[in-house]
Amino acid sequence: MSKTTGRLVDNLKLKNIHPNDIDCIVLTHLHPDHIAGLLPSNGNTLFPNARILLSDIEYSYWQKKPNLLELNIPPEVRKMLQSTTSEFLQRYADRIETVSMDEQLMADISLFAAPGHTPGHVGVEVQTDDTLFLIAGDAFLHPAHFTHPE
Ligand SMILES: [Zn+2]
Repeated sequence: MSKTTGRLVDNLKLKNIHPNDIDCIVLTHLHPDHIAGLLPSNGNTLFPNARILLSDIEYSYWQKKPNLLELNIPPEVRKMLQSTTSEFLQRYADRIETVSMDEQLMADISLFAAPGHTPGHVGVEVQTDDTLFLIAGDAFLHPAHFTHPE
């Protein structure tokens, strides 16, 4: 997508994390800036031991190949959204697992529904011993979303 993207595997290796070590990937939604890093140019998949988790509503929405005409975006962007998502769903078809939008994934990791950006968009809560992290995905795209979350 840009010169600053597509470095996930290399950056993980810098932390001594091998792609085979990753066993679960949680996606907040299926926009290209969240999934294209999982689509290497050689047509393969990455992280061969990872389950790919996403909300059942997000999966169903993109499986229906929406025309996206309700979005005020240029046609070429619409086509890029559709083709990237379609490619992702094809390549990872045997590893995608759908979950409910408020699923408790593990003892310290759960999802929360955050629809709007996409129909099945979720956030992720990660609880450590002393801190609760919220991974909001693209739920907050403008400062007004913080002051007026409704
Ligand atoms: Zn997005």
